[in-house]
Amino acid sequence: MSAAPQELLEARALLLKHLDMHPGTPPADLDPAEVGIVGGPAHVGTDTYHCGVDTLARGSWYSAGESPRDRKPDVYAAALDVGDFSRGKANLRHFSAWLVAQCAAGASFTRDIREVIYSLDGRTVRRWDRLGLRSNGGLDHTWHTHISFFRDARGRGAVAMVRAYLIHVSILPGTDTTTSTTPQEDDDMSQQTIPVPAGFAYNERGDLLAPESAVVIGTEPAGYAPNPLVAGRRIYLSAMTDHTKTGAPVKLRVAVHDGAGYVVTTHEIKAGGRTALVIGGAAKGPTGYSITIGRITGDPSTATLPLSILVTVA
Ligand SMILES: [Zn+2]
Repeated sequence: MSAAPQELLEARALLLKHLDMHPGTPPADLDPAEVGIVGGPAHVGTDTYHCGVDTLARGSWYSAGESPRDRKPDVYAAALDVGDFSRGKANLRHFSAWLVAQCAAGASFTRDIREVIYSLDGRTVRRWDRLGLRSNGGLDHTWHTHISFFRDARGRGAVAMVRAYLIHVSILPGTDTTTSTTPQEDDDMSQQTIPVPAGFAYNERGDLLAPESAVVIGTEPAGYAPNPLVAGRRIYLSAMTDHTKTGAPVKLRVAVHDGAGYVVTTHEIKAGGRTALVIGGAAKGPTGYSITIGRITGDPSTATLPLSILVTVA
C-alpha cells in the first residue's frame, strides 16, 4: 500500500489543527476527509501523484516520467489535496491564489512543487505547472486544490507552505514574508503561433492527401469568436503568410472540433497582415477545441510558403 511521506502528514495535521474548527461536523471548515495524500481505490492503477510505485499504473508518464525528478517512484504518494474551507479571510480560493503567486515568485517552500491545480471562481479549473506542460485540469478541482510535489522531494516544503499561509492570514503569529496575492487574472490571455507544415494536405474536395502536411492544435475551453463566451473566454484564430511570388493565395482547410463534431471551413490567405479565420458554429459546452489545419491543393508555389496560425484565447 502506498504511504504518505512524513512531511505531507505534518502539513495535513497543521492545516486541520487550524482550519478544522468544528471537529466532527462538516460545515464550511476543513475536515479530515477533505485533506488527502494517498489515493483511494479510484486512484489505484492510474497515473497520479497520489499513488506510490505499488499502485501506480504501469508505464505512467505524467507523474513518473515527464520530470527526471519523478522517474524513480517509491512507495510514497507525492500529492496533497486541500478541500474547501473558510476561516476569517482565509479560504480555499484565497489559499490557491496565494500559493500560485508564491510558486510564480519562486518562494523557497515552493521549489519542490511540480504543479497546483485549482479554481478561483468555482467554474474554471487552472493549473500552474512548473514544467509548463498543462494549464487546465479536471472539474473536481473546482472544490478542491491539488498540489503535486516532485517524487524525489517527499513533500519537502509543505509544512513551511502551510505555516507561511497561516501567518499570511494572521492565524499564526509571525512576519508575513510572502508576496501579496495577485490572482493571475492578467494572464487570462494566452497566445500561440503554430507553423503549418509545407505540402498540400487536402485536395479541392477536402480529401486527405498528405496527413503529414496537416497540423492539429488543442486549445483550452473557450467560446469561438464571435460566439458566446465559454468559461469566460473566446478563442480567435488568424493566419498569415508571406513571400508569394505569383500572388496566389494559400488555400486552407480548417476543421474545428467544437466538443460535438467538426465544423469545416476553407479560407484564402494572402501575403501581408493577419487574416481572421471566421468559422461557423458555437461551442458545444465547456470543452477545449481541437483544430486541424492543412493546405488545399492550389498554385504550386503555395505549397511551401511560410504560413502560421495565431491562436489567441482571451
Ligand atoms: Zn489530488
